[in-house]
Amino acid sequence: MADGFDAVLIGAGHNTLAAALHLSARGWRVGVFEGAQQAGGAVKTGAYTIPGFHHDWAAMNLSLFAGSAFFKDYGPELMRHGLEFVPVSHPFASAFEDGTWCGVSTDLAQTTARIANLSAKDAETWGAMVQGFGAQAPHLFGLLGAKMKLSALAYFVFKTLRAKGLAGSLDLARFLAQSPRQFLTQTFESPKVQAMLGAWGMHLDFAPDVAGGALFPYLEGMAGQAFGMVLGKGGAQTMITAMVSAIRARGGVVETGVPVARIVHERGRARAIVLADGRRIEAAKAVIAGVSPRALVQLSGGLAPAFDTAMTEFVHAPGTMMIHLALDSLPDWAAGEALKSFAYVHLAPSLDQMARTYQQAMAGLLPDEPVIVAGQPSAFDASRAPQGRHVLWVQVRMAPGTIKGDAKGEITATDWASAAEPFAERALDVLERHAPGLRAKILGRCIVSPAAFEAENPNLVGGDQLCGSHHLSQNFLFRPARGHADGSTPIANLHLTGAAVWPGAGTGAGSGFLLAKKLVGH
Ligand SMILES: Cc1cc2nc3c(=O)[nH]c(=O)nc-3n(C[C@H](O)[C@H](O)[C@H](O)COP(=O)(O)OP(=O)(O)OC[C@H]3O[C@@H](n4cnc5c(N)ncnc54)[C@H](O)[C@@H]3O)c2cc1C
Repeated sequence: MADGFDAVLIGAGHNTLAAALHLSARGWRVGVFEGAQQAGGAVKTGAYTIPGFHHDWAAMNLSLFAGSAFFKDYGPELMRHGLEFVPVSHPFASAFEDGTWCGVSTDLAQTTARIANLSAKDAETWGAMVQGFGAQAPHLFGLLGAKMKLSALAYFVFKTLRAKGLAGSLDLARFLAQSPRQFLTQTFESPKVQAMLGAWGMHLDFAPDVAGGALFPYLEGMAGQAFGMVLGKGGAQTMITAMVSAIRARGGVVETGVPVARIVHERGRARAIVLADGRRIEAAKAVIAGVSPRALVQLSGGLAPAFDTAMTEFVHAPGTMMIHLALDSLPDWAAGEALKSFAYVHLAPSLDQMARTYQQAMAGLLPDEPVIVAGQPSAFDASRAPQGRHVLWVQVRMAPGTIKGDAKGEITATDWASAAEPFAERALDVLERHAPGLRAKILGRCIVSPAAFEAENPNLVGGDQLCGSHHLSQNFLFRPARGHADGSTPIANLHLTGAAVWPGAGTGAGSGFLLAKKLVGH
């Protein structure tokens, strides 16, 4: 049972867990207090449909975690605590309405041959890009893993200038500012190749015409080609179970089912947290809040006017809906049997369709044809479902957090309790078109609407899976706000961490690990 700690952490998302583990390893006594019954936040696995079928509630792709600086340091320890990965050599593909498909596999010859079917010139471009990736990667990953302080950024610019010269550095800067459409249409001639890569922007909130989004189709394409994808054995939860076990083994406390109601601060110091059950937990050195920026203001009762305004004005991205399916067998993809061997099948036929979907969600409308990411983890990991059966992880992008209407004029409901079913049917119609007979294979299903996401994890405001838009005005030095990209707040020993803080969303444990290293000096 908890009484006093060096650091008290709010929420058991993977960022706070990463921070807690690093602090414990450096001798701090840590206590993590999670509101939900299960640790993990957006990374958890459960039998949401039928016993024996293990579904990743939100995140499925653990490549960012496996490639993270945190994993580099703590991988062996986590493996001893049960972490297991499943490598995937066919990471992603797109299926198109005309019965064709294109996909990226770690075998370069396979990928190139598929692209060559669409455009010989694009296949050549792909090959050249893959060759050049080794030279680009240190700059891009260096930037994405850097502390976001002016001094660190200046050092990054200096290093880039030295390695690439002025023209090369300006080209890199221009690329970082480009929209996915600018980059993709200037680089590839086949609209299908453009769409296949553009779909990665939609995993964040980089629709085709959003400035600053070119990086993600590029990086995910190149990383998929070079490394494939990494899944969690038995479910993404494996990384959380291992982190919690490692923290406890080092003497830390992780309690679940205990929402934090208040952060106590006096005379410029955070002293304690108060749980919803009334307990007060003292923090000798730090309170670390893995919450949304708005929630930080609510929990603390306000810290300083300018900071509170910045946190309150923090912009969230449109939401996501998930449909978890327990299936008799994998979808029979009309475009070809080969699609059964891909981790993600994107149903995002063109840049225009993605741009329209995003715009509709931004305007509060249920998109007429949502983008679908169909995840097939059980194709690689038989432990996810009873023998011969499968789970399908269906991500429906985008969906408005607050519904103002329906772009198709069919769904009249404007609350998620009533709109989730008909909107899920619309998504299943898209899937059925691409995989005829899918509905007949469904043994069980569970829909998680944007409202249901937020109800379970308050950080997913309006179902925003990123905990805040990554658009340029809210990224890099500005995530979550100027002067606070290192998680600092106006109170010296109160810190914000999680997806809202640089380097942002995903399972890379970046903000939590950077913060813990800052607190202990290394
Ligand atoms: C549908 C979906 C799919 C995704 N897919 C992927 C993917 O495949 N790959 C990938 O890399 N990323 C993916 N992401 C993004 C990634 O999962 C998240 O960015 C990341 O997990 C966020 O981690 P976090 O540490 O910020 O906290 P979160 O995971 O958001 O956890 C925060 C925790 O804090 C708790 N909490 C909040 N307030 C309180 C309080 N007052 N008291 C106590 N506890 C509190 C919450 O209950 C929650 O458990 C996905 C996200 C979603 C939603």
